[in-house]
Amino acid sequence: MTIVTNCRFCGTPLTATVVDLGETPLANSFVTESEATNEKCYPLSVRVCSSCLLVQTTIAVSPRDVFSGGYVYFSSVTDAWVEHARRYTDTTMARFGLEPRSLVVEVASNDGYLLQHFLKRDVPVLGIEPAANVAAAAVRKGIPTEVLFFNAETARRMRQEGKRADLMVANNVLAHVPDLVDFLSGFALLLKDEGIATFEFPHVLNLVREIQFDTIYHEHVFYLSLTAVERVFAAAGLMVVDVEEVPTHGGSLRLYAARRESSQVAAYSVAELRAKERMAGLDRVEGYLGFAERVEAVKAGFLAFLKQARSAGKTVAGYGAAAKGNTFLNVCGATRNDLVCVFDRSVAKQGKLLPGSHIPVVAPERLADIRPDYLVILPWNIADEVMATNGILRSWGGAFIVAVPEVRVL
Ligand SMILES: [Zn+2]
Repeated sequence: MTIVTNCRFCGTPLTATVVDLGETPLANSFVTESEATNEKCYPLSVRVCSSCLLVQTTIAVSPRDVFSGGYVYFSSVTDAWVEHARRYTDTTMARFGLEPRSLVVEVASNDGYLLQHFLKRDVPVLGIEPAANVAAAAVRKGIPTEVLFFNAETARRMRQEGKRADLMVANNVLAHVPDLVDFLSGFALLLKDEGIATFEFPHVLNLVREIQFDTIYHEHVFYLSLTAVERVFAAAGLMVVDVEEVPTHGGSLRLYAARRESSQVAAYSVAELRAKERMAGLDRVEGYLGFAERVEAVKAGFLAFLKQARSAGKTVAGYGAAAKGNTFLNVCGATRNDLVCVFDRSVAKQGKLLPGSHIPVVAPERLADIRPDYLVILPWNIADEVMATNGILRSWGGAFIVAVPEVRVL
């Protein structure tokens, strides 16, 4: 772990604090009872660069800590995300005329949740995934996957092997890569001359507007705006040619980028989104100030809810052992005295404890035994899905709750 004092892109000292969330463990390191006594915590603070406006954490955690053993995220676990991937396939197949001679490369391809849809339609694919256990799940589905960290060097090697992509995809990975220029240069190298790369990441505009502080965790290095990212793309030999706002993860951007030398021109959507960010103040440091006070108010609201539930003798449980929930619970200082357990469909997490709060993770099948009065949906972005699959909660008068940006009964 090292402290980052200067902007990871432009080197300017990071002096403007967006929010300081105290010390917490890594959001994806689930622990056993015996590991819980000796858990490593790291400061979690976010600053905005006064020069290039990249919003970023001030701690560098080594990839070894992030990916060793505890890395148990499987994309196919949520139905909504698999459906999002299927729709993406339909759209891009038509828009870019993909066919059996094309190549689609996904960086951070996880368990093949996306590439499986292209494969079904006879478009050759290649996955690139750094976590070996997750890559193995993709290979079992018949999706060729290389286990490596993608960057300019590995892209150059693949290009020498004759690989060039018509479409490259990187969903929810850009924000996790400390050296953005090295990473993005790999796309400029591996794309065909007129190829397109798409990138999805949570839009920092929604983080600020909806007080989504629970999307902040150590491995999530950057909180990106189009304004900040366009300069980084240019430095890597890419240009943004189109942008869409998509609903995933509480509001994300999907950028379409082409090589600088390509013949493509930017759609009007790019100028429009730049203007929207300017209106929201994201083109200046001042647009980020005042966020920390709003986080305190969300936290106070949730603590008041817990206190009220306790004095009324009500049982509170959580749903969804995702990174988001872990930041939220740890910033609020919640423990298993507040939430009896968190239900999660991921078998890899069941039987373990959440990092920091040490709340046990149990299978959703046990909902009817535990019969909580309140079920706090921690990944509020999939609240509809959680309510649809856990409707049994209402049979004993239980209520679904979300806590961001304020406590609400659904
Ligand atoms: Zn900077």
